Amino acid sequence: MGCRAAAAGGWLIISSQNGLWPPPDQRKQLSKPIPLDCRPRCGACCTAPSISSPIPGMPHGKPAGVRCIQLGDDARCLIFGQPGRPAVCSGLMPSAEMCGHDTGQAMRFLDELEVLTHP
Ligand code: SF4
Ligand code: SF4
Repeated sequence: MGCRAAAAGGWLIISSQNGLWPPPDQRKQLSKPIPLDCRPRCGACCTAPSISSPIPGMPHGKPAGVRCIQLGDDARCLIFGQPGRPAVCSGLMPSAEMCGHDTGQAMRFLDELEVLTHP
């Protein structure tokens, strides 16, 4: 996977072969995430990032910008709660920084992260 995103200590932290983003000394520059629910019919985090771990129906994962095959027409994960769902998906929590105000903002944020964390 080009990047792995996870909520850690209230922060959205991205890890890649280039290390953690944002680095610890820059995390204070982000507003503190507030817990929020996933926005219905978004699907940005199932489209913008690359995923290197196998996904049912996508054994080699997926490239950045490609809609996950398991993302339903209603932008819900079709394998939510099932063992084949990648661990990185289970670890990714909605956050104000990532999700933004709309899907376009989320896509732009995640596209930028993909570039920043590309090995
Ligand atoms: S980017 Fe945020 S709102 Fe959009 S699908 Fe992912 S968690 Fe939900
Ligand atoms: S497996 Fe589910 S949560 Fe993970 S990227 Fe695909 S649709 Fe999204």
